[in-house]
Amino acid sequence: MSAERLAGLIRERQPCVVLTGAGVSTESGIPDFRSPTGLWAQFDPLEFGSIEAFRRDPVRVWSFYKPRVSMLTDAEPNPAHLALAELEQRGLVEAVVTQNIDLLHGRAGSREVVEVHGSIRTATCPGCGARHELEQVLELLAEADAPACPACGEIVKPDVVFFGELLPPEAIDRAYELARGAALMLVVGSALEVYPIAGLPEETLAAGGKLAIVNRGPTPYDGRANLRIDGSAGEVLPAVVAAL
Ligand SMILES: [Zn+2]
Repeated sequence: MSAERLAGLIRERQPCVVLTGAGVSTESGIPDFRSPTGLWAQFDPLEFGSIEAFRRDPVRVWSFYKPRVSMLTDAEPNPAHLALAELEQRGLVEAVVTQNIDLLHGRAGSREVVEVHGSIRTATCPGCGARHELEQVLELLAEADAPACPACGEIVKPDVVFFGELLPPEAIDRAYELARGAALMLVVGSALEVYPIAGLPEETLAAGGKLAIVNRGPTPYDGRANLRIDGSAGEVLPAVVAAL
């Protein structure tokens, strides 16, 4: 029933921009790092996830990241990712703005993906600035605990946003532009707690757009959403596609 209502909203209110968070990837076996039982509850983010920690001891930070990178590359897109790609293909989703770094939207077939926290697609050498593709980083990781730049020997840094780093300005500008132009913003699997991304629905609402939320658990925007579905993205989104 609510999937049908959401399908109706998507049909009526174009363009529709989707904002996704960790909840869209949990069904691919990728845990939400920020949940109370997640990674950052077990590991001090300042010690392993901050840019200061990386500058101080990149090999130590890689000892933490290496198993996580292989977990992300082993993961497969789930029905939520596939449904969003399908909606884009049908012309019903303009773009997906994501907080996730796992590349699963692109692998599911989504084309317009704005990665506001960066991604594991590339890593950059802090020494010489060379950019290395994920495949090369994985090859380097197969032979060492931390990937050293083949050009200069410095340990490369994944192009994901670490704590203490600014978000990539081009992606943020694009995300805000999309949010302002959206007749409907569909939030999926995000508790909307991490700024500045949590401010995107505000932009849509201020510009006269509507808001729909599919998330397990509450968000600060629930009272202002046109429709709110407390459910799993992997169940709700395929039902929405089926209802269209
Ligand atoms: Zn280098």
